[in-house]
Amino acid sequence: MSLLHTVQLAPADPILGLNEHFAKDQRTDKVNLGVGVYLGEDGTLPLLECVRVAEERITAGRKPHGYLGIDGLPAFVATTRELVFDQGPAVLERVASVQALGGTGALKVGADFLKQLSPDAKVMISTPSWENHRALFTRAGFEVEEYRYYSPERKGVDVDGMIEDLEAAAEGTVVVLHACCHNPTGYDLDTGDWERVIDVVTSRRLVAFLDMAYQGFGHGIDEDKSVIGAFLDSGAEFLIAQSFSKSFSLYGERIGALHVVAADAGLTAKVLSQLKVCIRTNYSNPAKHGAALVAEVLCDPDLRHIWVTELAAMRERIKDLRGQLVQRLEAEGVTDMGFIADQLGMFSYSGLTKDQMVALRTEHGVYGTDAGRMCVAALNSRNIAHVAKAIAAVR
Ligand code: PMP
Repeated sequence: MSLLHTVQLAPADPILGLNEHFAKDQRTDKVNLGVGVYLGEDGTLPLLECVRVAEERITAGRKPHGYLGIDGLPAFVATTRELVFDQGPAVLERVASVQALGGTGALKVGADFLKQLSPDAKVMISTPSWENHRALFTRAGFEVEEYRYYSPERKGVDVDGMIEDLEAAAEGTVVVLHACCHNPTGYDLDTGDWERVIDVVTSRRLVAFLDMAYQGFGHGIDEDKSVIGAFLDSGAEFLIAQSFSKSFSLYGERIGALHVVAADAGLTAKVLSQLKVCIRTNYSNPAKHGAALVAEVLCDPDLRHIWVTELAAMRERIKDLRGQLVQRLEAEGVTDMGFIADQLGMFSYSGLTKDQMVALRTEHGVYGTDAGRMCVAALNSRNIAHVAKAIAAVR
């Protein structure tokens, strides 16, 4: 038998599988809330004005398509560092940063780097977490365990459970934390909770890996990165995977960054050299266009101002949609889902059961994940009434 005869069919990605079903659904009032993207009021993916202008300038510049360095476009890397860290040059000297293929690429380069460094360490992710966290770290060779996070009874974070699980973790365990807008629950830690988490991470000598895929979608660009400042103040060594997919609506450009914060500046060059080995042996060097777009926007004060305004508009519109959905549900007699308005980011963990989610899909053409996650950022004035009625009908 040939080698390829032994290949097993891998299970379909749950979210992409949902999209395929949605595409085949003939109903005209179908609504796809399974996606993880922000859609505008017209139901399509927005092209941000700041990106449109930056793209025109870059195209007009007619530059040849040379390779980037292994660590990416220097202007992009420098500006992303300023976006994440505002503690000044002394802190930046402790940080090794590289361009990455989206937030996912940043997580994978970070995972490969950590695996080389600490082959026996385990990884802990939240229950629940973004569905790719477990697969990505497992594939990178780690044993992946979970810490308690979401409490269905409380409709919020089980902070005591989370702290208890982190306290029981072995020294050196890598803890994946969502910096803001937790996916899939929409529930974040507050400042006091973060202090407790940072205390355990430092006292138990755990390694925090902050995943920041939604900066600007929670409370604001600066507010959403405040946990990074708190980690810096603690003196801990930690990693950050940053994604620009959502904040710039640049999903397909695969643009993100990885930052590794060392305890002292003397380690940065060594860390950077190892990150480059991980990149070089995977894809040699990253792609240029997305990095050039983000750099053009962030380095030009006018375009940056437009970006800040456009990101705020996306954030505020999602909040407004949350409020509208709660009101419409109340009008349909569903009075116990007010928590949707308190959640942050693109998603709502609706608390609906798998059977209810299946009924939503099959009977009403409203698609969300089996775990009850719905993308609030895909609602609009044409589909929101149908969604509210459908939820009321399956409850
Ligand atoms: N982390 C989390 C928590 C996410 O939700 C996502 C995107 N869905 C990513 C990482 C990956 O982001 P990107 O598309 O930039 O790879």
